[in-house]
Amino acid sequence: MHEAMLYEKLPNSRVRCNTCQWRCNIAPGKSGVCRVYQNRDGTLYNLNYAKASSVAVDPIEKKPLFHFFPGSQVFSLGGWGCNFHCQDCQNWEISCPVDNEPWLGSREVSPQAAVELAKRYQCGGIAWTYNEPSIWFEYTFDSAKLAKENNLYTVYVTNGFLTPEALDTIGPYLDAWRVDIKGFTDSFYRELAKVNRWRGILEVAKRAKDKWNMHVEVVTNIIPTMNDDDQQLEGIASWIRDELGELTPWHVTRFYPHHHMMHLPPTPVSTLEHAYEIGRKAGLKFVYAGNVPGHSSESTVCYNCGNLIVNRFGYQTKVVGLEGSRCKFCGAELNFKTPEQRGGHND
Ligand code: SF4
Repeated sequence: MHEAMLYEKLPNSRVRCNTCQWRCNIAPGKSGVCRVYQNRDGTLYNLNYAKASSVAVDPIEKKPLFHFFPGSQVFSLGGWGCNFHCQDCQNWEISCPVDNEPWLGSREVSPQAAVELAKRYQCGGIAWTYNEPSIWFEYTFDSAKLAKENNLYTVYVTNGFLTPEALDTIGPYLDAWRVDIKGFTDSFYRELAKVNRWRGILEVAKRAKDKWNMHVEVVTNIIPTMNDDDQQLEGIASWIRDELGELTPWHVTRFYPHHHMMHLPPTPVSTLEHAYEIGRKAGLKFVYAGNVPGHSSESTVCYNCGNLIVNRFGYQTKVVGLEGSRCKFCGAELNFKTPEQRGGHND
């Protein structure tokens, strides 16, 4: 149990948690929306520090991150719980566990152990993934700091709902922001995740890029009848183009029935291809259809000269046309990140 880093003490022993944008106002003895931050006598504690639900060595492409250390392995850690309760969650067993304290008895992976394991398994870095990383914020902060001291890269796979101050706290130690932009309307976010004010996600993603120089890639899981309309897809694509830049990768991924959405069919591949076209038409240079192994959009092709840059099939990756972050054939900038490309944050 660790005292939270980001909270305020309020009258009557209440506290306000400032880790994510819910900014829960929590009475003594109670927990926030995520159920892992708890007010004990006017002090806010995180209950699941270092308690891992899932530990694996994954290809970085599985996050998915396609333009960030391509072909590398990443030491991947998941915790317990979430600040969203999405109807379509693929990892609901760990993000919405039925047990009140599922972390009790689970494996403890200290920041030191995570770094040692990442190095032992020859990983390029560490990712906090599988569930929302911000809800074991103190653990990811300590781990990210240590990882950077050990020359490992660091990745958040996130719903992006952190507060700006949480981002600014971990920003100096985080290299990649793999963020979901799940849809583009209030009604969609409300229906999917019971979140009313979601637009802060956009602001924080932009801040991750502009202020902290993080590598940003966006994922939209396309759910039939919910966010597959042109209006939402065009909204996401043009927001990425205008605010993150046309070289930002956008992954439009296939939904499979999960959790409370067993009644919907998997996304037709034609819908993903339509989303791909919308992204390209909006001016995005890199749109990838995800969860469709073997799809033609899986590989990276230079938008300028048409040469193959990274060949992918599922999680098999071969870099064939990169020189630093540029196309080795024509010199076009392709927004790939390797250790040389991260030059610190922008003040
Ligand atoms: S992390 Fe978010 S959901 Fe959890 S207590 Fe803090 S503000 Fe609430």
